[in-house]
Amino acid sequence: MNVLLTGGMGYIGSHVAVTLLQAGHRVILYDNLRNSEAGILARIAKITGQTPVFIQADIRATKTLTDTLQQHTVEAVLHFAGLKAVGESAQKPVEYYANNVEGTISLMQAMQEAEVRSLVFSSSATVYGEPRYLPLDEAHPLAATNPYGRSKLHIEEMLRDLSISDPLWRVISLRYFNPAGAHESGLLGEKPVAVPNNLMPYMARVATGELKELSVFGNDYPTPDGTGVRDYIHVMDLAEGHMAALFWLAEHPGWHTLNLGTGQGYSVLEMVAAFAKASGRAVPYRIAPRRKGDVAACYADPEKARRELGWQARRDLAEMCASAWKFQKQLQTG
Ligand code: NAD
Ligand code: UDP
Repeated sequence: MNVLLTGGMGYIGSHVAVTLLQAGHRVILYDNLRNSEAGILARIAKITGQTPVFIQADIRATKTLTDTLQQHTVEAVLHFAGLKAVGESAQKPVEYYANNVEGTISLMQAMQEAEVRSLVFSSSATVYGEPRYLPLDEAHPLAATNPYGRSKLHIEEMLRDLSISDPLWRVISLRYFNPAGAHESGLLGEKPVAVPNNLMPYMARVATGELKELSVFGNDYPTPDGTGVRDYIHVMDLAEGHMAALFWLAEHPGWHTLNLGTGQGYSVLEMVAAFAKASGRAVPYRIAPRRKGDVAACYADPEKARRELGWQARRDLAEMCASAWKFQKQLQTG
């Protein structure tokens, strides 16, 4: 199958590209490198022995996108391109809506023009807002609490309208829980930012000694040890979930939503212990005040994905931490 990945040079897209290439599919990466770098291509080639087609362009360049879809006889699109930092989205809402929402409108137009009507969209558990019950299933009410989350909600609504308007469309929105870990080679992983916001990359930097200690945001939540509980899912499990969703879609026209999580929650302190064990390094931490906007616990009901796709996460927390640590060490040694 010929598959185009918008944002395919990013953290999740690059892992999905490897999975698709290794399964014998043709992959076209379309990315403006806003949050990734050209060197990813060589890393994908080193792992798979194949260099995918790469088009450096913005998804809002509708004509370029249409031409790419036509020239490469693309049959389906995986749509990863987007800005994803929750805090930044509150400071730059217009930029977030322009990139994520306008970008998706452009993609829908290009796909219509090129008559490509299969789409897998990267959504997020953030669309559920504050959990009213746990685990979160796909029927949970939707209520995003920040511009990033609202951009995902707007996109889901647009895609649903499109699927309803024309029975030839098949669209699935995958709601990721907390992607973590890296490719087992240590060649691909989450690109580090100056000071990471997310727990896993932050702990990795503490373990190397680049950052002094982890601030644990709150230990007075109604959870077993008082710290926040999340559903961490290995990025390679996520990648396999995308491939399963892509082929399931071929038999299922219309609009669909699906959680990609493990169903298992881990607390911040459990994560610290797991990372220290995997890395063989201490992860010093101190208890800090709660972070604004955080919920006590958030984890998936993964049953629909198991039932519909026959997919479930296979890799455990130890593998997530070990692979993230391998990638971190590889970054240090170059
Ligand atoms: P990432 O930033 O590593 O990858 C996104 C890629 O999209 C980058 O390579 C970036 O350069 C590209 N991009 C951004 N805007 C673009 C545009 N206008 N035109 C072309 N390319 C553009 O992020 P990621 O972690 O791989 O996330 C991929 C998708 O999954 C995003 O849509 C994100 O919102 C969603 N998601 C991520 C997480 C997570 O924790 N990583 C959780 C839930 C959902
Ligand atoms: N967290 C923390 N310290 C950090 C970063 C995160 O204690 O430096 C906690 C956060 O409060 C949450 C969990 O780790 O309970 C996961 O946070 P992350 O930002 O990775 O993902 P989120 O679920 O918020 O998207």
